[in-house]
Amino acid sequence: TTFADKQYRSPIICILGHVDTGKTSLLDKIRNTNVQGGEARGITQQIGASFIPVEAIKEQTKSFAEKIKMDFKLPGLLLIDTPGHESFNNLRSRGSGLCDLAILVIDIMHGLEAQTLESINLLRMRKTPFIVALNKVDRIYDWKPCVNTDFKEAYKVQSKSAAQEFDYKVKDTIAALAGQELNAELYWRNKDHRKYVSLVPTSAHTGEGISDLMLVVMQLMQKLMLDKVEFTNQLQCTLLEVKVIEGFGTTIDVVLVNGTLNEGDKIVVSGFNGPIETSIRSLLTPPPLRESRVKSTFINHKSIRAAMGIKIVAPGLEKAVPGTSLHVVGPNDDIEKIRAEAKREVDSVLNDVETSGIGVSVQASTLGSLEAFLNFLKKIKVPVANVAIGPVHKKHVMNTSIMLDKDPKYAILLAFDVKIEESALHAANEMKVQILSDETIYLFEEKLKKHFGAIKE
Ligand code: GDP
Ligand code: MG
Repeated sequence: TTFADKQYRSPIICILGHVDTGKTSLLDKIRNTNVQGGEARGITQQIGASFIPVEAIKEQTKSFAEKIKMDFKLPGLLLIDTPGHESFNNLRSRGSGLCDLAILVIDIMHGLEAQTLESINLLRMRKTPFIVALNKVDRIYDWKPCVNTDFKEAYKVQSKSAAQEFDYKVKDTIAALAGQELNAELYWRNKDHRKYVSLVPTSAHTGEGISDLMLVVMQLMQKLMLDKVEFTNQLQCTLLEVKVIEGFGTTIDVVLVNGTLNEGDKIVVSGFNGPIETSIRSLLTPPPLRESRVKSTFINHKSIRAAMGIKIVAPGLEKAVPGTSLHVVGPNDDIEKIRAEAKREVDSVLNDVETSGIGVSVQASTLGSLEAFLNFLKKIKVPVANVAIGPVHKKHVMNTSIMLDKDPKYAILLAFDVKIEESALHAANEMKVQILSDETIYLFEEKLKKHFGAIKE
């Protein structure tokens, strides 16, 4: 094929950052400024994602067009709708990240916070390129709101003191990022995207810099990562969630990153009790935006091409593991090989434990979050003896209690964003096994320091 024949898929874009920095608001703003004016401009709601077509992005960035003369090659952007670490962690394939580019949101008034650092670690672990949205610029003292305006235009009309405060905050953020060994620069001053992270000032409330953000994402993808988003028939599909839906039974929500899925395709997904073999009964997406108010039925598709967020209906999905890959079994494929691969993917994470058998117990809700959590424990040098995915049951507490004899400081069970059954709590109480639970990695750091610190004394 010649260059002109190349087809591209939409890049997968995730939004990460500390709580309350404005991740959800930014996502809403990106969608809404595009939907404004009564026309949806082809924005479609997908399962767990929003598709922003290139026409909408052209329209939104047209004020830059003369200066920049960009030739848009990508069909659009697929924004992952659940901002935060969960989706990012589960957009994985054999340990590498499937998110093409991330937007790390930092509150310009707060600078780097605990989950900002956690996000940076996750991005590093998955080798995911990212830019920073320096959000809430409208909160700078005396800032004059310039609704949905390109950032530099908005900056020009600010008072001297507001502009100065903005400059200081940017300097502080750049210095703080340097402390994390990251070179950063305001995006229009960034001459080398491979060495410097671009900062894009935004307001999810008044809309300054939203056009800049879209432009920078598009430019980066096209300038440096075009080969990564070439459409191929090599299937890349990740399972994000398992959900029971009335009338459909157990369904799986997936992101189809590359390739094509068809109704009737024979598929293999990883299960808690081994690989699951089934076939696709329906491929579903939500109804078009304008009709969604009327009735929330799904649209059926015979075939879907990447990149897309899809709900799959198929029998036997109850035990499917979120964060694992979906495989299609073609007519010439060796099913045993594919089953082995599906099993290996889960085992590679579940077997990532101390051979000595001495260490803490860990439990997480999905394979992706478990992998991220184990990575964090490695970093802070906490050995791990037992791992599991899913709610904490009595048997898990019993497993942990073995450590009471071997090395009591490790008789703790770390429950990362999972439910703890009542019976497990009782058992823990009786056996004097400690359960530490939380929904974010950074909160565990403090708890573990306390736990091990108290023991050392
Ligand atoms: P998330 O936890 O990162 O998803 O943050 P949210 O989007 O839920 O926002 C947290 C709070 O900050 C909410 O009260 C938002 O209205 C507010 N917020 C978000 N973005 C902005 C912004 O750009 N400017 C201002 N002034 N407030 C914002
Ligand atoms: Mg949110």
